[in-house]
Amino acid sequence: MNIRVLAADLAAKIAAGEVIERPASVVKELLENSLDASAKQISIEIQGGGIDEIRVTDDGLGIPFDEVDLAFQHHATSKISTEDHLAAISTLGFRGEALPSIASVSRVSLITRCHTSEGGSQSIREWGISEGVRPHGSPVGTSITVSDLFGNLPARKKFLKSPATESGKIQDLIYRYALAYPEIKFQFQVAGRTKLSTSGHGDWLEAIGSVMGSETSNQMLYVYGEGSESGYKIEGFTGTPSLSKANRNNITLLVNRRWIYSRSLTFAVDEAYHGLLPEKRFPICVFNLSVPLSEVDVNSHPTKREIRFHQESKIFSLLQRSIRESLISNSPVPFVSSPGVAGFANRSLASGYGRENHYSKSSYSNGMPKNLEGSFLAKSVNGYQDTRINGSDLLETAKEILPTLQVVGQIKLTYIIAEGQNGLYLVDQHAAHERILFDQITERSASKTPQMQPLLQSCPIDLTPTQLGVIDSHQDILRSYGFEFDKFGEMTVLLRGIPSIVKPLDPVKSFIDLLDVVAFEGLMRKREDAVSASLACHSAVRAGMLLGQEEMISLLEQLHRTPNPHTCPHGRPTLIHFSNYQLEREFGRR
Ligand code: ADP
Ligand code: MG
Repeated sequence: MNIRVLAADLAAKIAAGEVIERPASVVKELLENSLDASAKQISIEIQGGGIDEIRVTDDGLGIPFDEVDLAFQHHATSKISTEDHLAAISTLGFRGEALPSIASVSRVSLITRCHTSEGGSQSIREWGISEGVRPHGSPVGTSITVSDLFGNLPARKKFLKSPATESGKIQDLIYRYALAYPEIKFQFQVAGRTKLSTSGHGDWLEAIGSVMGSETSNQMLYVYGEGSESGYKIEGFTGTPSLSKANRNNITLLVNRRWIYSRSLTFAVDEAYHGLLPEKRFPICVFNLSVPLSEVDVNSHPTKREIRFHQESKIFSLLQRSIRESLISNSPVPFVSSPGVAGFANRSLASGYGRENHYSKSSYSNGMPKNLEGSFLAKSVNGYQDTRINGSDLLETAKEILPTLQVVGQIKLTYIIAEGQNGLYLVDQHAAHERILFDQITERSASKTPQMQPLLQSCPIDLTPTQLGVIDSHQDILRSYGFEFDKFGEMTVLLRGIPSIVKPLDPVKSFIDLLDVVAFEGLMRKREDAVSASLACHSAVRAGMLLGQEEMISLLEQLHRTPNPHTCPHGRPTLIHFSNYQLEREFGRR
């Protein structure tokens, strides 16, 4: 066989394939260029999942007229000039490859005006070939329109997913950048419809709120940690355990404010929540790791998404420890240290994170939290030391079958106090109800007798591509539980009915959470159990709900009848038992 040098345009197409995998990779490169150009506002508009068109417009520094052509040449970058800066290449991935790669597989129109120039310019390119640069009116900044992606590479285009899926990937990416850059105003439109708009005020929690909703941002805890000599610093927000999700999609890790994926750091986050979250639940969090440029290597992966750290174990433990410290110091719940019920004591931490313990906006400014002591402020707000219970055998989970219980009352709108033949019982109303519903749901679905209650008003729900995937492949399971829904538009379903066995407080949320559960459990054996558990969790009475005497009596009766009354489907205890003997001893009667 003859060895031949590839024709330049073929070589370019191959190179492009490494950097540009799909529309989201184009958006990522363009976004990063806007960030590098010190933009304060970035707007992203897409059509047809970004395959038809992507436009990224910024108010950054712009490109001088005579450098526009250069920007499209391979290895052309304004960001590194001498070898001294080589570390920056490997760290931030300035390789001067993005624009030429994008241009070789699409039609590009770039309009730009440099902040020092009077007028702007436009450059049009088709499949890598320049049609020249000409003067063109433009505000200071750059606007790049990329159309007909992979139009010259049908084989590659075939590998793209549906526009809806591609659009979802772009949305996910933009959300992560909006989380990373609260001081930048992001605007994201899909086919003319605004999907995200952030204020750019620089308030990190506010940015989290714009992306994930204020209910979430209100329950985020500030996390800060510094490695003593390593030069590493971690800063961010992590959700209280009550915010947990069914998959890891809500863990956002940034390194030097670029979004990355790292298996080991994700694992560090998991570890930090060990014992605080039920099995297969994952936290919501956003962290930025500041790492010296010389410590990372992003070039191990062409799209720069996965990175390598030279001292991975140090970063791992810094991240894990910092999150853990914040979680523990913000927990107002008694940490019961009893050897006999260790696992249980640990788990009891999972509930009870009070809203009052979360950081007020005043503890940080300018986007990034400034006040380092802030992360431990909450300790003094509600020190758990005061409420620590010491008697090592004071608590005991009931081991036998549950006796008949008489209701005494409700405390903290969360626990039912009850009396049984052998002492006092504290029942977690939510956990207990979850257990009852779980057993009913599994029984129903096993006997294939789901009952549906139609919603008074059907609810349209916008779904992520993953959630849509679940609907496509698991319609039968969902229907077997009594959900009724129809596809409606590309990314939307219309929820018409819900299982009648349960009374979801928020049918839409329970349906979406269920899709997330199934997405995660997809390949696992006990998927049905996970579905039942999720349904039960959503339908059960919440902590904080006032229960009438009748309701409490009925709850305890039903709990009494379940085969596993002592734990909820996630494995948390439903009740704590103080035996008569323990009470007498504690009061010095014995
Ligand atoms: P790199 O980002 O690695 O330098 P790119 O191919 O992404 O390579 O961009 C090439 C050059 O084009 C950049 O170094 C920069 O000078 C210029 N450029 C690209 N996008 C922008 C933008 N939005 N604003 C200002 N300059 C830009
Ligand atoms: Mg670039």
